[in-house]
Amino acid sequence: MSIQWFPGHMTRARRQIQEQLKLIDAVIELVDARLPLSSRNPMIDEILQGKPRLIVLNKADLADGEVTKEWLDYFKKQGQVAFPVDASTGTGIKEIPTQLKLLLKAKIDKQISKGINPRAIRALIVGIPNVGKSTLINRLAGRSVALTGDRPGVTKGQQWIKVGKEMELLDTPGILWPKFEDMNVGYRLAVTGAIKAEILNVEDVAFFGLKYITKYYWGPFKERFDLQSEQPTGSNEPDEIVEIMEEIGRKRGCIVSGGRVDLEKACGLILRELRAGKLGRFSMEAPY
Ligand code: GDP
Repeated sequence: MSIQWFPGHMTRARRQIQEQLKLIDAVIELVDARLPLSSRNPMIDEILQGKPRLIVLNKADLADGEVTKEWLDYFKKQGQVAFPVDASTGTGIKEIPTQLKLLLKAKIDKQISKGINPRAIRALIVGIPNVGKSTLINRLAGRSVALTGDRPGVTKGQQWIKVGKEMELLDTPGILWPKFEDMNVGYRLAVTGAIKAEILNVEDVAFFGLKYITKYYWGPFKERFDLQSEQPTGSNEPDEIVEIMEEIGRKRGCIVSGGRVDLEKACGLILRELRAGKLGRFSMEAPY
């Protein structure tokens, strides 16, 4: 099975971004620090047509700090500027104007040498739904901004949002869709809540998430739920993961009549806690 998004959405979003590119100096590409590749549109390079770009790993407060470091190294090796932020508290966002100025230094220096006073850098935030675009815009603006039509196709009456003296943001973020032929990408997005688990199947999504979490984050996970179960390993892994789901279900009262565990309910609960960071910080993919 593969998930197909209505291709019309992507075509419209792409056209809108290409119109917006004419107005700006640089792009701020927002990805989810827990899954920086799965949460980006694979056609991003083509869509941005060589515009200078910062890659901002948002929700870094929820991600595994060690893995985030590996991602920063990965992007650096690709010659891209990337850094982590937490848009919900504003941690790290001061780097954005600083890094934009560095990125555009050659252009700015050229203007200065010609005696032109450089105007504020104009930037566009792009990213998939739920990655934190609105949260970041509000943080950068220092106030609650009414974004015009957070949907592709709505480009009327665009405004510039001032961020200090040196930067302006377009008030309509560019929306990109994740695209995946690879089901694992879909599952990672569903585990972190970027797409609804119901699009796939709640139990399958929780199973996928637990397979990863119990492998790489067993200690904090076991502690959180005070589990008696052992860490799943080897050929019995699928059964052992289901047993863990059942243990959590029993502990949290996800029971149907007859005393059986309501697995779907237990899985919904596990996913909610995972997304809210209650199981500790975790990443869903690593570069190496
Ligand atoms: P958009 O669809 O890209 O505009 O995403 P939103 O700005 O609406 O954010 C989606 C959800 O992620 C909201 O519930 C935000 O509160 C949450 N969020 C955004 N940034 C962060 C962050 O850095 N850390 C955490 N923990 N949550 C965030």
